[in-house]
Amino acid sequence: MLARTFGCCRYAYNWALRARTDAFFQRGERLYYNQLAVMLTELKKQEETAWLTEVSSVPLQQSLRHLDTAFRNFFEGRAEYPTFHKKHGVQSATYAANAFTWDGANLTLAKMDAPLDIHWSRSLPTGCQPTTVTVSKDYAERYFVSMLVEEEIKHLPGVNKQVGLDLGLKSMVITSDGHTYGNPKFFAQDEMKLAQAQRRHAKKQKGGKNRRKAQLKAARIHARIADRRRDYQHKLSREIIRENQVVCVESLHVKNMVKNHTLAKAISDVGWGEFVRQLAYKAEWYGRTLVKIDKWYPSSKRCFDCGHILDSLTLDIRYWTCPQCGVSHDRDINAAKNILAAGLAVAACGEAVRPGRAKAQPGTSPRSRKAHS
Ligand SMILES: [Zn+2]
Repeated sequence: MLARTFGCCRYAYNWALRARTDAFFQRGERLYYNQLAVMLTELKKQEETAWLTEVSSVPLQQSLRHLDTAFRNFFEGRAEYPTFHKKHGVQSATYAANAFTWDGANLTLAKMDAPLDIHWSRSLPTGCQPTTVTVSKDYAERYFVSMLVEEEIKHLPGVNKQVGLDLGLKSMVITSDGHTYGNPKFFAQDEMKLAQAQRRHAKKQKGGKNRRKAQLKAARIHARIADRRRDYQHKLSREIIRENQVVCVESLHVKNMVKNHTLAKAISDVGWGEFVRQLAYKAEWYGRTLVKIDKWYPSSKRCFDCGHILDSLTLDIRYWTCPQCGVSHDRDINAAKNILAAGLAVAACGEAVRPGRAKAQPGTSPRSRKAHS
């Protein structure tokens, strides 16, 4: 039933996307959820699409709402034009409250007579009534249920500590007080297995059964890596938010302004975006402050102790000694300290203030903008 529901949701979404696009190009008309929901009801009455009635109507309507959201994101500049959902991509179906029952332990979806056999990753807060349930299937063909609940989250007691975080190549996160977290070698074994599985997949004949099997195997290893990485990020973001009142980071936008990207760095950047997202919502939950620095400051090239700014600092240099004050720096820890200083200045006085005792204005010299961070 889930497989059929996924298929119908995908059909409804793609059909509505086509209808909206045609209406706009052919008649200059904009179609929204309300008109499309009426059109969908008509579509179900037609003989060749009558199979749409075999599944609950609620997830189909939710697919139309998802399309509304996709278009809103497009019009407001946050996303590309919506694209068709593919049969072999991630599948999902969303059930509103009128399309499932939840008795505190069992979840039964509309058009199903038995509750889903769920292996819980965490328990729901007691006494919560889910308002929305989304069932999905990922590339590795694993099924997930996510339940949206409302929960009162209490702020943590205040602490008198603040920290700057930088993203490194050798470690995932480096703090201004000198701690390093997350060794990328943690994933090295899995990544080797993944590369092997991907090579095997590439060798199999296109369209063959063995190719699909090999693809699934690669997808499972990929999913395992992604799960472990996300788990680790959650653990780390929880710890950093709990221990610090103020956390300063560079936004991904700033990170991307540095053009000397190696592949390894590009990969770690992807993780950075998710990590900062987790820090942001956890800071809000627990009453902490996350300062996102979204202007470019010379965090790596600036000596934290005297403010001297190097002309260049290539990625392979891990340690350097300041030519002006003679202090030796670990590249990443020095950067994290500058990020903390910049973040505190931004939080206190707005963008115009620069951290520490430096002389030049940051980000205004064309040379420093182009140079390596
Ligand atoms: Zn110095």
